[in-house]
Amino acid sequence: MRALVYACTAWQYAACRVVGRLWSGVYWSAAGPARLTDVTPPPVRPGWCLVRVRQCGLCASDLHLIRLHFSLASAPLAMASRAGAPFILGHELVGVVEQAGADCLLPTGTRVISRSGGCRNCGNLEVAPCPSCRQGEYALCLRQGAPAPGHEPLRGGGFAPLYWEHAANLVPVLPALSDDQALLAEPLACALRAVLRLPGLETGQVLVIGAGLQGLGVLHWLTCLCPQVQAFALARHRHQAAFAHLFGAHQVLPDPLALERLAPHVGTTCVRGPGRNTMLLEGFDAVIDTVGTPQTIHRALRCIRPGGMLIVLGAHLFAGHLDYSPIWFRDVRVVGAFAHGVVFQKWRWPCFIPPVQRHSG
Ligand SMILES: [Zn+2]
Ligand SMILES: [Zn+2]
Repeated sequence: MRALVYACTAWQYAACRVVGRLWSGVYWSAAGPARLTDVTPPPVRPGWCLVRVRQCGLCASDLHLIRLHFSLASAPLAMASRAGAPFILGHELVGVVEQAGADCLLPTGTRVISRSGGCRNCGNLEVAPCPSCRQGEYALCLRQGAPAPGHEPLRGGGFAPLYWEHAANLVPVLPALSDDQALLAEPLACALRAVLRLPGLETGQVLVIGAGLQGLGVLHWLTCLCPQVQAFALARHRHQAAFAHLFGAHQVLPDPLALERLAPHVGTTCVRGPGRNTMLLEGFDAVIDTVGTPQTIHRALRCIRPGGMLIVLGAHLFAGHLDYSPIWFRDVRVVGAFAHGVVFQKWRWPCFIPPVQRHSG
């Protein structure tokens, strides 16, 4: 079968980055890191499944990888592209179990989504759960760097007709959900994880930076779980702004926006330092940054009230300059939100109505 296989050596990375300054098409060319390759699926191992892929979404993180939009100096575990570890791209997938290995709890014919995109955890390593996995935090598994026998030599992915994965990492899809809706489960789960980082916010003002899929997902969960909270959205494009309104934003503002212009919307004033150095006197109770660049984080820290929280959801794999003084003198808590996990809490069931349905009604 043909699969979109990702593999990048350090030399290839260096050469493509140099050529890419003159010709951005290099990343998509035969010299780039992703290419259609003939692949033979491995025999189905006990506990594993072979899934016939129906659809697969293209995540911004996939595009970052293809465009080599990461630094080799990023923390090694955050880099999915370590040399010598090829894998098939695509983690936002929906498919049907075609073959189930021995002792597999998912019968053939089950429609499933992948909950880990092939990330390693105690479930697919078939070892006793580490403290993270025991709490349902499989994305924070302490064995993430360990090799998983079932993944090697090629990790399965959604941009192929067949996807191989341990049954522990597959989740059956409710019949009421269409494939299109099931496809959104993974990105929406990431957004939900970020919103659940908010410490019991009943009222207040939250700024969501970015109105792509993650930003809209965050707005969706904010309106479901914290209906009293005023959610502000910064949207770069007009169509994103229209969607942000649809997904319940209290106000949608253009991105980027000077802090002087942002201040009156939050009912505060803008403090000026020398030059163009500005920050809000009070500000938002929390900012959820779905972009995550040094520029957006730098600005986010300057518009959070003392004691507020910054939640970093956007993936960015470059080191950058950052003024972190607001963290210190304003007691701002900075919290990351990576992927998803299992959360045990009392749900308000209406929040599970798929957003596409909910916000179009
Ligand atoms: Zn993703
Ligand atoms: Zn674990």
